[in-house]
Amino acid sequence: MKFTPARAPLTGETLETLTARLALRGEPAFRAKQILDWLYKKRARNWSEMTSLSKPLRAWLDETFDLLPASLVLNKQSADVTDKLLLQLADQALIETVIIRVPQEGVGLDHSRKTICISTQVGCAMGCVFCASGLAGLKRDLSAGEIVAQLLHVCHLEDARTPRARTELASFDNIVVMGMGEPLANYDALICALTIVNAEWGLGFGARRITISTSGLVPKILRLADEPLGFRLAISLHGATDEVREKIMPVNKAYPLAKLIPAVKAFAEKHGRMVTLEFILIAEVNDALEQAEKLRDLARDLHAHVNLIPYNTVAGLPWQRPSITRQERFAEVLRRARISVTLRREKGHDIDAACGQLRLQTEQGRKAAI
Ligand code: SAH
Ligand code: SF4
Repeated sequence: MKFTPARAPLTGETLETLTARLALRGEPAFRAKQILDWLYKKRARNWSEMTSLSKPLRAWLDETFDLLPASLVLNKQSADVTDKLLLQLADQALIETVIIRVPQEGVGLDHSRKTICISTQVGCAMGCVFCASGLAGLKRDLSAGEIVAQLLHVCHLEDARTPRARTELASFDNIVVMGMGEPLANYDALICALTIVNAEWGLGFGARRITISTSGLVPKILRLADEPLGFRLAISLHGATDEVREKIMPVNKAYPLAKLIPAVKAFAEKHGRMVTLEFILIAEVNDALEQAEKLRDLARDLHAHVNLIPYNTVAGLPWQRPSITRQERFAEVLRRARISVTLRREKGHDIDAACGQLRLQTEQGRKAAI
């Protein structure tokens, strides 16, 4: 499922593809780098700012490329330091990008550590029963340019907030691919986008600070293990046995734990670093202590970090988060076994930060308005 816009997004071009495109027009080899410097380093917002380029070239660029293929329609800030951006694409589709700020001691909020959560699809086809992103199914994949554009939007917002140090390209510390969509179901666009984000001529952002989260597409996990760039991996486990997992995640039928766990192990061995197991705690679905014990055993076997996430309620869905006492009891089983575990007091509950919720509300609002 693809959307082909009238003009190609500039944010989807690599140095090689842009050089080839410009060579057809008789432009010298250095021109592509010059244009990408305007985009990623000097953060030009329109073609007229690119003053080192001739007017005819700028006119041709404008006809050929969309400089930034997404526009900001809403920036919903929450009291607890999370910003949720709603972006509109050329075909009116809506996607979400979240800025999560973790305040550092002794410095203001502007100097907090920032993690950016990006989307890879409009909707999602995986059908996890608890998730807002998948409720209306998959609308389409995002292009590489649309994935990169989310980060450039964040850069523009953050640049305005805090002046960048000269040496700093990106204005954030980590990227998590945990927004709307299943990233590994849009594999080629994802890798192309992250290659641009990582490249010296792009945002120059380290692959080790990028985490890709997947619901468990085994063949793609194995393919990811062979990528030259060493991205981090997080697995949305949410069930420590097939019985529990397949009730809430249909993907478990095709890739049950007997297939998933060896793939995660292969990835971890190749990369030599910890994989994260994400586990949403949903009351009376997966929060029993037997699940905690099974999860403990899996984490021990994989030398994995466990991230426990109290479920974020979704309007129209019946699932609830367990009480704090129950959450703590679950976490304690893992802590006692010295498993590296975090029980996330998730940021942004008050602005519907769980994936897909803001878009869903806006889409519903649009329908109501028609
Ligand atoms: N599709 C990928 C990445 C996007 S979802 C994946 O599933 O891993 C990012 C994370 O948010 C996943 O761990 C997902 O299970 C979790 N999530 C989805 N709905 C949620 C909710 N209502 N509350 C808390 N976490 C949720
Ligand atoms: Fe898709 Fe991830 Fe939501 Fe499952 S949890 S429906 S894979 S976005």
